[in-house]
Amino acid sequence: MTWYGQNHRSLPWRDTQNPYHIWISEIILQQTRVEQGRIYYQKFIDEFPEILDLAQADEQAVLKVWQGLGYYSRARNLQKAAQTIVREMGGVFPHEYDRILSLPGIGEYTAAAIASFAFGMPFAAIDGNVKRWSSRFFGVDIPISKPAFSKMVGPLLQEVIEQTSHPDLFNQASIELGSQVCTVSQPKCEVCPLQASCYAFDKKLQNQLPVVVKKSQPQDWNLHFLAVHHHNEVFIVRRPKPGIWAGLYEFPSLTLPSHEKGFPAAWKQVLGGNLDILHIQRQVHLLSHKRIEASCWNVRWNGEEKPNFRVAGTLLFDASNALDENSELWISLNEIDRYPVHRLMQHFLTNNQHD
Ligand code: SF4
Repeated sequence: MTWYGQNHRSLPWRDTQNPYHIWISEIILQQTRVEQGRIYYQKFIDEFPEILDLAQADEQAVLKVWQGLGYYSRARNLQKAAQTIVREMGGVFPHEYDRILSLPGIGEYTAAAIASFAFGMPFAAIDGNVKRWSSRFFGVDIPISKPAFSKMVGPLLQEVIEQTSHPDLFNQASIELGSQVCTVSQPKCEVCPLQASCYAFDKKLQNQLPVVVKKSQPQDWNLHFLAVHHHNEVFIVRRPKPGIWAGLYEFPSLTLPSHEKGFPAAWKQVLGGNLDILHIQRQVHLLSHKRIEASCWNVRWNGEEKPNFRVAGTLLFDASNALDENSELWISLNEIDRYPVHRLMQHFLTNNQHD
């Protein structure tokens, strides 16, 4: 903790004990690095300064602020949890660890972080940074993603935090040490305050610990988007729930077998006569579990009437299930900023503006 006092970074969520603000920062930091996290944190707090503001917001507004971070279920869970707090807890963020943990989207790490940072309670917060240094320090060779790792290390850290007078500082220091000193590669053992008792340093096992199980290969996904321009409007759809990018808008899309890279036959067959292909954008987009080869077909529709995407009751694209009247819209491209979109869609829109 002495080391932390002298070396820690100054971050806005460290200067507050407001549990709501700490919670928002923790969820954002699960998605992005600290520098980008600062920007999103400020935007989120400005837009929804109190729990009640988040609870009462339109879901679309929440997704819009979250846009670009990915894992949109986290943003939806934030709002669900805010609504639970308002509905069942009198609008006051709970002060008990178990009640914090019961909220949607809050796991053991986040509950411990909030409980200690906001209320000074002794619960060890164990994120990836903490797992890394503790695996090396204690010499634990169980893969850090396995529950057995946390079962072994959790009680050791818990014992230490219960003996400190500042559990909040202990957790901050523990996370900061893993992030800034005991880094993934080339840990800075020469400046580490734990060096004298560190198993990995003593045995020169820094490169062998922690044990990390390789993730399985992401699945390929061949996805085609249809950006139909009709007069000054384009057609967008809102993706259904549950599923990937749930509740976000995109140009209608269609999944094809991986070898099919041309203009989708289903679209050509039904819409072909009235379409001019203007240009195509191709982009490879990586998600944690998918590798998307995306093609965005920008076309002009020459028919007088708008095209009909339902043929004999069959939809010509994968998603949109008429969630409500706002699930399928013709809008002017200038209006698109009003709608939350996923990062791939954002890429197509940004590049389009440069064409
Ligand atoms: Fe990590 Fe090195 Fe410190 Fe051990 S001495 S905890 S390996 S930085």
